[in-house]
Amino acid sequence: MTDMQRKPLLAMTLDELKTVVQSLSMPSFAGKQIADWLYKKRITSIADMSNLSVANRTKLSEAYEVGAYAPIQVSTSQDGTKKYLFELNGRYIESVMIPDGDRFTLCVSTQIGCKMGCKFCATGMQGFHGQLSATDILNQIQSIPESQQLTNVVFMGMGEPFDNTDNVLRVLEVLCADYGYAWSPKRVTVSSVGLIPGMIRFLKESQCHLAVSLHNPIAEERADMMPAQKAFPISRVVEEIKQFDFSGQRRVSFEYTMFEGRNDQQRHVDALARLLSGLECRVNLIRFHTVPGTPFKGADEGKMVWFRDQLNKKGITATIRKSRGEDILAACGLLSTKHLMNQ
Ligand code: SF4
Repeated sequence: MTDMQRKPLLAMTLDELKTVVQSLSMPSFAGKQIADWLYKKRITSIADMSNLSVANRTKLSEAYEVGAYAPIQVSTSQDGTKKYLFELNGRYIESVMIPDGDRFTLCVSTQIGCKMGCKFCATGMQGFHGQLSATDILNQIQSIPESQQLTNVVFMGMGEPFDNTDNVLRVLEVLCADYGYAWSPKRVTVSSVGLIPGMIRFLKESQCHLAVSLHNPIAEERADMMPAQKAFPISRVVEEIKQFDFSGQRRVSFEYTMFEGRNDQQRHVDALARLLSGLECRVNLIRFHTVPGTPFKGADEGKMVWFRDQLNKKGITATIRKSRGEDILAACGLLSTKHLMNQ
């Protein structure tokens, strides 16, 4: 947990670190040195910044702290997937680390709970309990034991990233900047139900991949499952996306969780093909894991294969996603820390 009195340095951009050192009358190159300690060497204490003078470290420590904090619990699935629990002043968030051969993907949360209220989602049922700061988001990436092994990060945990756009964009900057993690933006995917203003900023200000939670291409049916459809219809979301270039390295994908009888019919194939025509993209078909308290049931394997083949025949690239971490409630839509919140 971060010290409430002192400001966290973790997730500050280089410009912000330069402002900090200036305000403390430290040499201007100290901003870059601090960025190195934070993002390359990943230290957890200002005392470890050994190329700053003791006097400067003391001065810095009076107003600032690193701000990194370790998870308080880890659950490990039979398939190696790990779910980490972080505590923030009596509230809780989760991140999920998914190993796959030499790939290590971390799924991070951007909010405590979520306002979007998707009817099939455990996080949505938990309601909204607050924004995560950029420090809290980056800390999930920096403070797990596998931090240095991570090959990919996906913003698909608890919360809607474009309902916390400033903080998400700041984390993307630190992940991709030379002074930060210096990752290629190809290693990062941000997932959204399609909140257009934040999505457009993301598409303009970063080069990371976009994944849109689509789940139903028919407006009235989607609105029944996903209230966000009313303010940001999927047809408008896709129109906006079509204004950007996905013919190079950057990718856009559409997440499509398959529910029995609700979004697995021929009319859905046809509507999806119409909606996505002319856009270089991929549709990821996701198995639904029953969320206690929802009336939704997952489509069976045969139906998913049929749906994929129909889409492929229409020229839409579609794949069925492997399911991971179901036994520890780490799979898509299952993240919830409600039981910890005493409500
Ligand atoms: S699916 Fe995503 S956007 Fe919808 S309620 Fe769950 S966390 Fe929020």
